[in-house]
Amino acid sequence: MSWVTVIWAMVASACLTLAAVHFPVWLKDRAAWPSLFFALLAAANAGLAFCELGMMHAQTPADYAAALRAGHVAVWLLTVSLFGFVRSYFKAGRPWLGWLVVGMRTVSLVPNYLTGVALNYTQIATLQAIPFLGESVSLPVGTANPWMLLGQVANCLLVVFIADAALSAWRRGERAKALSIGGSAVLFALAGIGQAVLIFWGAAKMPITISVFSLGVVLAMAYQLSRNVLNAARLVQDLRESEERMTLAAEAAHLGIWVRDMALGTFWASPRARALFDLSATEAVDLDRLLRKVHPDDRQAIGQTLSSPVPGADRYNAEFRVLEPDGGVRWLSVQGRFEFEEGRPRRTRGACSDITGRKEREQEMLRLRHEIAHAGRVSVMGQLAAALAHEINQPLGAILRNAEAASILLQAPQPDVEELRAIVEDILGDDRRAGAVIDRMRSMLRRHDIDMQPLSVDDLLGEVKALVRPDAAARHVRLAVQVEEALPGVRGDRVHLQQVLLNLISNGMDAIDESGGKVRDVVVTGKLRDARWVEIAVCDSGPGIPADRVEQVFDSFFTTKLAGMGMGLSISRSLIEAHGGRLWAESRQPDTPGACLRFTLPVAAKADNRS
Ligand code: ADP
Repeated sequence: MSWVTVIWAMVASACLTLAAVHFPVWLKDRAAWPSLFFALLAAANAGLAFCELGMMHAQTPADYAAALRAGHVAVWLLTVSLFGFVRSYFKAGRPWLGWLVVGMRTVSLVPNYLTGVALNYTQIATLQAIPFLGESVSLPVGTANPWMLLGQVANCLLVVFIADAALSAWRRGERAKALSIGGSAVLFALAGIGQAVLIFWGAAKMPITISVFSLGVVLAMAYQLSRNVLNAARLVQDLRESEERMTLAAEAAHLGIWVRDMALGTFWASPRARALFDLSATEAVDLDRLLRKVHPDDRQAIGQTLSSPVPGADRYNAEFRVLEPDGGVRWLSVQGRFEFEEGRPRRTRGACSDITGRKEREQEMLRLRHEIAHAGRVSVMGQLAAALAHEINQPLGAILRNAEAASILLQAPQPDVEELRAIVEDILGDDRRAGAVIDRMRSMLRRHDIDMQPLSVDDLLGEVKALVRPDAAARHVRLAVQVEEALPGVRGDRVHLQQVLLNLISNGMDAIDESGGKVRDVVVTGKLRDARWVEIAVCDSGPGIPADRVEQVFDSFFTTKLAGMGMGLSISRSLIEAHGGRLWAESRQPDTPGACLRFTLPVAAKADNRS
């Protein structure tokens, strides 16, 4: 029995068996590159084992040279697949070094076939028989080919490439991987290189056994890949368990969940999520199909939210309507986040719930609030009108009488100019009195009971935002509140300030409606103006206020709206002045369209702030 044949055949068959096991893994999962490279590497080593056997059993120098030449092709494939395996498995190693090794190995195939008899010999004079494992095997006697240096330098660089990649994996904490695959590959490669150098340069008399050394690397890789498979199986089990738990929790909370692979465009949706969108259990889901279920008014906004993350933010939440088959609408709230790979959004996960009940309550509240506000305005206007009519009647009557007298005087052929001047003086005096009546009205408003309390600007703006949100959502206006960090509290009357802010924000939204522009933003900001004053601004993306009207808009009864009363800004100014602050409008700037209404409030004393 020939031990050499038995051992080398076993090496080859072990490698081929492992290749046959791992190649189909890659066929099933085209992302499993390590399995493909491992299968190629094992097949290459099997080929090398046959070539080595051919060399040992060669009868003529030509037979030996042919087997040696073929062996170099097997070594080339071994090198390429080792490079591929190390890169894909460790996700490390310098690519340029790997490509240099592959390049040198590829180039070395040229002298292998075109110079001498093979890469290692310019000529093989004869074969020498030496004893090996109890039998006689062939060794060449010939002249070394200097081109073999190319292959040997490539082998040394390959060792450096593998060691470097393994070191990176080690540093990342993947020590078992680095040690078993990196360590064994470096060790066996060094042994193989050492043997080849000694034999081909004539320093040692033994057959080439590189495939036996490489079997160690193949086995170490096979061991690690099987461990991966085992770990993956365990992970699948754990994943199933945690998925069960998550599904249970989501179902209990009536949450529908989905995952969207943004690269492949595929969607997975839980049964509850399907039910929320009226999709059957078997219907394929994609973004278009989902969006078709969304109310046309919300479709564009929600489509954008789900397909492209806002720069700098990986989370999103939105509320939108879904059309029901019976023609009704269902309100859904969705919260989710994007997951990025190499800076690109790769996946998005979201959870959605039915908020129709909440929305209906909000809308009911909004309707009630409008009604109350309307009733309030009507009653204030009624009182004002009654008071005005009463107070102003007298100066108006006097003006009328004076005007009538003047008109009679003017009919005289030579009107008495002195008399006329006196009448005009009287008219002016009455007009001033009428003005004073209006001023008194305003100060009456100013004297309204004001309950000054220390207030947190954050809380104040947050409350107003909560009040306005449904109205803003219905009018498709994005309302943002930005409060400077560590902003001290202010002194003010919560209800009055809310009233002012509500008025300014709804003016902003009216202005946006009027302009009909695409950008529909109202931004409310709070910042410290100086040590004593906090400044709150309400800025919108409407058409702005012309420069010559920035003061006029505060006049009582000034309005440009069909159904406007023109009292909002005038009352707001009175209220802010009653707090000791100032309210003013800023005209449109060329670079920032829209209007900004700003007001100041006094900073609360330190003791107040602490409380
Ligand atoms: P009303 O809202 O009833 O008209 P206001 O006193 O609140 O009364 O506003 C007076 C006028 O000021 C409005 O009619 C409008 O012309 C103008 N105005 C107020 N706010 C804005 C704004 N944000 N952008 C443009 N114009 C505005």
